[in-house]
Amino acid sequence: MYQYQSLLECIEAHSRPFVAQGAVANYIPALAEVDPDRFSMALVTVDGQVFSIGDTHTRFTIQSVSKVMTLTLALQRYGESLWERVGKEPSGTAFNSITQLEFEKGIPRNPFINAGAIVTCDALYSRVSAPIHSMLEAFRTQSANAKVIIDKKVAASEYEHRHRNAALAHLMKSFGNFDNHVEEVLKAYFSYCAIELNVIELAKAYSYLSNHGFCQYSNQQLLSSRQTKQLNSLLFTSGLYDAAGDFAYRVGMPGKSGVSGAIIAVAPGRFTVAVQSPRLDKIGNSVAGIEALAKLSELIDFNAF
Ligand code: GLN
Repeated sequence: MYQYQSLLECIEAHSRPFVAQGAVANYIPALAEVDPDRFSMALVTVDGQVFSIGDTHTRFTIQSVSKVMTLTLALQRYGESLWERVGKEPSGTAFNSITQLEFEKGIPRNPFINAGAIVTCDALYSRVSAPIHSMLEAFRTQSANAKVIIDKKVAASEYEHRHRNAALAHLMKSFGNFDNHVEEVLKAYFSYCAIELNVIELAKAYSYLSNHGFCQYSNQQLLSSRQTKQLNSLLFTSGLYDAAGDFAYRVGMPGKSGVSGAIIAVAPGRFTVAVQSPRLDKIGNSVAGIEALAKLSELIDFNAF
């Protein structure tokens, strides 16, 4: 059994110098207002132990890490038929790229880039009567905090600066791959991105990914064991946009990042880990977050193969 708490202390000491590297995302103005020097990390084991380090009380918006929950809720309702509307391949382009979508006739490469998440939101919107409420409830029960809320200022800022995401949605609509009102679906999408959690809640919310689809906090089987393996496979190949290969090489775990500097990673059968530090590299991933996860992988000699 690993001494996870002392490992986290060692990882924090290693990662702190990297917190100053990179730049906070500012294309969503409200995101640029966060304290850039934050660092926090939490690890939740499949038997319910929680280890954490750093500024664990402060909440941040989870941004693209929400795409994993969107996919989970959509898979619960559509199963395999969801893949008629979104692919399973790495994109090799930026998370908000528009060119590939034109060439590929409105079918996004995977559910973890913006276009793929937006079309998944559209699918969810068709099957869930109160999608924003349902998403909040999922995070509340799975993170064991009934008070989880949306940062309305961030959601409004994203909506105000929505042009590129709106373009992606309209392009998909022009190809017949979008059923609902674009503005309504975008509002839902931005609300999911603006859900606020601290790093412990984030690790708990995604603990089902390391536990065969079972969430120990909500006591729910969210996905089958097979679906969970498949979702983890997709996270491994596409969770960090066009840095997925580098992350696979350095960290070796399925992972998902967001522009708030949050990253989750999964050691199947062992733990889910979450880290957050706002400054990003050029691809949009937290510099210190990636360093921390690479160090964790090195210290526990993790290898999925
Ligand atoms: N809300 C962000 C956007 O739509 C999410 C992007 C991200 O975290 N990579 O641009």
